[in-house]
Amino acid sequence: MFIDVAKIKIVSGKGGDGKVGFHREKYVAAGGPDGGDGGRGGSVIFKVDDNLSTLLDFRYKKKYAAPAGEDGGGKRCKGKDGQDLIIRVPRGTVIRDQKTGQVIKDLSDDEPFVAAKGGNGGWGNTHFATPTRQAPRFAKPGQPGVERDIILELKLLADVGLVGFPNVGKSTLLSMVSAARPKIANYHFTTLVPNLGVVSVGEEQSFVMADIPGIIEGAAEGAGLGHDFLRHIDRCRLLLHLVDAAGSEGRDPLDDIEKINAELAGYSEFLAARPQIIVANKVDLLGDDREPVERLKAYADAHGFRFAELSAATNQGVSELIRLTWDELRELPPVFTYEPEFVEAGDEVSERDWTVEKVEDYYVISGAWVDKVMGSVNVDDYESRQYMDRMLKNVGVYKKLEEMGVKEGDFVVIGEMEFEYVY
Ligand code: GDP
Ligand code: MG
Repeated sequence: MFIDVAKIKIVSGKGGDGKVGFHREKYVAAGGPDGGDGGRGGSVIFKVDDNLSTLLDFRYKKKYAAPAGEDGGGKRCKGKDGQDLIIRVPRGTVIRDQKTGQVIKDLSDDEPFVAAKGGNGGWGNTHFATPTRQAPRFAKPGQPGVERDIILELKLLADVGLVGFPNVGKSTLLSMVSAARPKIANYHFTTLVPNLGVVSVGEEQSFVMADIPGIIEGAAEGAGLGHDFLRHIDRCRLLLHLVDAAGSEGRDPLDDIEKINAELAGYSEFLAARPQIIVANKVDLLGDDREPVERLKAYADAHGFRFAELSAATNQGVSELIRLTWDELRELPPVFTYEPEFVEAGDEVSERDWTVEKVEDYYVISGAWVDKVMGSVNVDDYESRQYMDRMLKNVGVYKKLEEMGVKEGDFVVIGEMEFEYVY
């Protein structure tokens, strides 16, 4: 079965908690703090796998959770990190947010994408020891994991999409020009899954062609099979619009073209505006009668489409069509990819993202903003410390400390650092 849309939930692992622990040894009266840090929670990561062509796996399994990090142990033992959960998807899978429908990521390249980051592990109490504070009785809990409800939608990446009524010869053409072996038969809807083929034009020159199930009238309103599949040609740079020039099933070819284009327009105006080559197929059936071909050509000219005639069955006109397709493609922009629209709260660190808590008699300053600032501060460097000082002052951390009653000589913990408060 071919599945190209799926709704799933992904959950990253919670960070392990930091440990409060003290060194114990025979004959040693009071050992120092030795509570280890919690491990990082596992992240949920998406990766493109070209061996996959459908989202079938996601039909049955709906929840994907990465494991939590282990809590810190005694003897400064760091808890084990939770293993990342790698989810493999076919190339061209677009991840959207379920609530807003916004694009989170278009998985078109090979770059792994972290869709839900595992929570950081909490610090064990060893971090909070200072020369004058040798037995800190607190540690930090691990950060929670992230939960996201997402939609996966497969939108194949192909340069060229074949469109046309059933039986006009789309699958035959694809099988002639590529190694793809779509089903070919003389009845409607033989193509039940999209097929991709690589068409080589010359040395190191090639393009990807997609054959989708035939579009029928009403498909854009969901009446037929075709509608669901239009998403797969949504990104194509160029459409080859095949038509049975001989009208061998009793329909008028011009009528066919207009119906198909109305279907495309019903699906999306962007798809309808995509450049097209009208391909008059089955010309072998016409014998010496040039009239149907001339009529189609005149129609194409009048509507600004390129035109080619073809007999996919006898190979006549195939190489000319490929050449024309290649020439057109060279003029066209690359395959469309979606820019992320969705920025999860917290992805962007706000200057308000810090807190001060009083833990025992420490003032602990933490939060995403603090992590960010401290990540760029070198505490051994005077200038860098000055910068940190300015930043803390600017966002109001010092003011807050004073409101909380900080006194000269009190201990303040910030990031990996602790210091005594001085005015
Ligand atoms: P699709 O539904 O558009 O994919 O059409 P197919 O490729 O499955 O072809 C439908 C039927 O038309 C098959 O029996 C093909 O052999 C036949 N056919 C395809 N191209 C030609 C052609 O150029 N000339 C003739 N005579 N028959 C063709
Ligand atoms: Mg077919």
